[in-house]
Amino acid sequence: SGAQAQGKELVVATDTAFVPFEFKQGNTYVGFDIDLWAAVAKELNLKYKLQPMDFNGIIPGLQTKNIDAALAGITIRDDRKKVIDFSDPYYESGLAILVSDKNTDIKDAKSLAGKTVAVKTGTATVDFLKAQVPDAKLKLFPNIDNAYLELATGRVDAAVHDTPNVQYYANSAGKGRVKVVGTVKSGDFYGIAFPKGSELVPQVNKALATLKANGQYDAIYEKWFGKKP
Ligand code: GLN
Repeated sequence: SGAQAQGKELVVATDTAFVPFEFKQGNTYVGFDIDLWAAVAKELNLKYKLQPMDFNGIIPGLQTKNIDAALAGITIRDDRKKVIDFSDPYYESGLAILVSDKNTDIKDAKSLAGKTVAVKTGTATVDFLKAQVPDAKLKLFPNIDNAYLELATGRVDAAVHDTPNVQYYANSAGKGRVKVVGTVKSGDFYGIAFPKGSELVPQVNKALATLKANGQYDAIYEKWFGKKP
């Protein structure tokens, strides 16, 4: 039964900056993940407070149970499944390269060899580049906004991060200064993350299925990404 989860105020972590999934607008956090969780919580009658934090702290926070759940565009991976639990997938993603508008020599993952690449600490991108392009020089940032700033000011050759975030940034704050070169990985899926053994997982999966069936998931998707292709 969910008596325990329904009774207390859950601590739900999100990333501090991951457009358009979670980002600060004025004094509040908005975004796809924020709306999706609000709908799940309403469905399950859960009380919660959001706790934005650096991505790198989220999985450890779940492991120590300082956090009850987390939405941060967290990629479902087998190694992570050993230490935390995931809901069913809720968003298909991948990784993409971002370069200066004027760049002409970076075309794909291979061409990042020998280049300085801005990445976000603790993310799937770091593992991907270490394995696929060991010659790339990685410059780590806890917050991706600082990585993009570094690119815009020409201190790194490229930035690599999750495709929807890269595309959103290139079409908004980075418009006219940076461009998306292409996708270097696809077929990743985001899941809502929980401490191992959390009683919330089956409940949240049921709520996600309901939201997908009744159109609420699609409405939230279209609000942030436009009509599905
Ligand atoms: N999807 C990335 C990962 O799980 C993180 C995305 C983000 O920066 N919030 O590693």
